[in-house]
Amino acid sequence: MQKAVRKLRAVADPGEWSPAESAELYGIRNWGAGYFDINEAGEVTVSVPAEGKLATVSLMEIIEGMKQRGLQMPVLLRLDNLLEAQIALLNDSFNKAIQTAGYQAEYRGVYPIKVNQQCAVIEEMARVGLRYGHGLEAGSKAELLIALAHLDPEKGYIICNGYKDEEFVDLALQALRLGFRCHIVLETPTELPIILEASRRLGVRPMLGVRVKLAAKVEGHWNESSGDRSLFGLTTAQCVELIDALREAGLLDCLQLLHYHLGSQIPNIRDIRAGVQEACRYYAALRQEGAALGYLDLGGGLGVDYDGSQTNSHHSKNYSLDEYCTDVIETIMSTLGPAGVPHPVIVTESGRATVAYSSILLFNILDVTSYEPADAPPAVAEDEHELVKNLREVLNGVTAKTAKECYNDANFYREEIRELFRRGQIRLRSLSLAENIYLHIVWAIIAVLQKVKRPPAGFEGLEESLADIYYGNFSVFQSLPDVWAIEQVFPVIPVHRHDEAPTRRAVLADITCDSDGKIDRFIESGGMKHTLPVHTWQEGKPYYFGVFLVGAYQETLGDLHNLMGDTNVASVRVHGDGSFEFVREMSGDSISDVLSYVEYQPQQLLERLRKTAELAVRRERISLAQRQEILESFAASLRGYTYYED
Ligand SMILES: *Cc1c(COP(=O)(O)O)cnc(C)c1O
Repeated sequence: MQKAVRKLRAVADPGEWSPAESAELYGIRNWGAGYFDINEAGEVTVSVPAEGKLATVSLMEIIEGMKQRGLQMPVLLRLDNLLEAQIALLNDSFNKAIQTAGYQAEYRGVYPIKVNQQCAVIEEMARVGLRYGHGLEAGSKAELLIALAHLDPEKGYIICNGYKDEEFVDLALQALRLGFRCHIVLETPTELPIILEASRRLGVRPMLGVRVKLAAKVEGHWNESSGDRSLFGLTTAQCVELIDALREAGLLDCLQLLHYHLGSQIPNIRDIRAGVQEACRYYAALRQEGAALGYLDLGGGLGVDYDGSQTNSHHSKNYSLDEYCTDVIETIMSTLGPAGVPHPVIVTESGRATVAYSSILLFNILDVTSYEPADAPPAVAEDEHELVKNLREVLNGVTAKTAKECYNDANFYREEIRELFRRGQIRLRSLSLAENIYLHIVWAIIAVLQKVKRPPAGFEGLEESLADIYYGNFSVFQSLPDVWAIEQVFPVIPVHRHDEAPTRRAVLADITCDSDGKIDRFIESGGMKHTLPVHTWQEGKPYYFGVFLVGAYQETLGDLHNLMGDTNVASVRVHGDGSFEFVREMSGDSISDVLSYVEYQPQQLLERLRKTAELAVRRERISLAQRQEILESFAASLRGYTYYED
């Protein structure tokens, strides 16, 4: 068998390949939202609005800039322009839809801090938000502190969700004193007495909201947030009690906002419309009861098309942002209009859709394992075990017609031979020979199947079982926790070499020693695959990958599996002339940092090793010079990066 045929289906011949074919294969124009593409040089580019122009930069140029600044892979790249672009897009889309429909109130968005709390993200949100009156949503005391310290009291807007104790409520009321518009949203009936007491004590009339539990249920990963068994929000009976209690306290006019949240990443526009419609019924009913409602807060849920399919798959959404805005507005108008209810200010708490695009995890490949047989089909000695001889016979008989039978036979003999080895009845060398013959058989089967138009069924998983493993310098658990926890699909592609055919297929393993530390769900030619087309590994030459759309939820959910810490982070701003600047560089955790997170004291560790080394000197195992060397290596490692360093 020639080397050239040892490549898997759907990957083209080397030599006749263009970057455009790569763009098609990896679907970058489907999931890239117009921001990401591949240029003529075969490098992934990002195009962003900058200073009134559209500026395009190659990610390889940015990686070069990282190298020059001593930022080692993996690096989380934040593109400030994309945060700004998404906030602008959200506000412009709502404002356009409001104008078109003749809607009688405004849109006020808030960014939910929990989706990405990093200081650089919040600072940028607050800066860009000024232009639109886009505020922040706080789900905890810590997040409220962030909001208070970043927003402008005149233009800013704060919504407080989550469980609230006295301190949380006090802070929210004091925000009103400072001039902030700050809604306290009641999530449970127990919060009311705390609010009433604090309001009396401080002499501040609260701005209140109420979260209702809608019956509407949504599709997708987070559908547990919806339906009448959802954890948060008041039931209809509790809403009625709330109205009565507020009336009694003389605060019914403080209830201004109706809130609901159906869960994140809602893939189906039908569910979004059903939620708005049901919420409008509550809105009208509570107004009828005397509440001074003026705001309708739809929560989050605006989806991101991670796989680029524009469908209602969990990783996608079957609507555009314009459709979302138009449908929300039309549903409110058609539900509240006939009841004569004035149009409410529309609030959304879109997190995922505002930040997902702005971060890219970049990493380099460290090594590759491939499952290829030794070059020539192996000879089998006369006195070899019968089963091994049988297996060798199978290899001789592979044709398109017999492929299925050969595959079954090969699996049978291999399993028998492995069993013999387990029982100690066959030598390691015979087993190794058998494994090699087996690989020849499956590659021979792939070669014959590639020539037939319609490959027969029964070979599912065959290609996967032969795919290479590319080892990437990153940790799934630290940087892509949703890949591990909920099988989230993120677009992953090589950052360069797209002028070259990707002739191999691979899964991507990380550098934790956990078998779950891998990426094996990929987007390819509009579908989902368990292996990814990749370029051949060239020893000693850097090969970079990017995981895209990772700006939402990944950073703080990540953990310290194998004590892989935070990665280096670089925030980059692109200018109108296509130049770019590193606005911020943050070093990731050092080994000393991660050790202290799990309660070690690095200084003490060094001291312990010093004692061990001292003893070794006394016992004449090592020289004093060697002792110094060991202690210096140890100290240098403590200061070093937790990932693979060049
Ligand atoms: C998490 C959350 C959001 C953000 O949802 P996205 O789908 O990321 O936009 C908004 N509101 C509440 C109450 C949340 O809990």
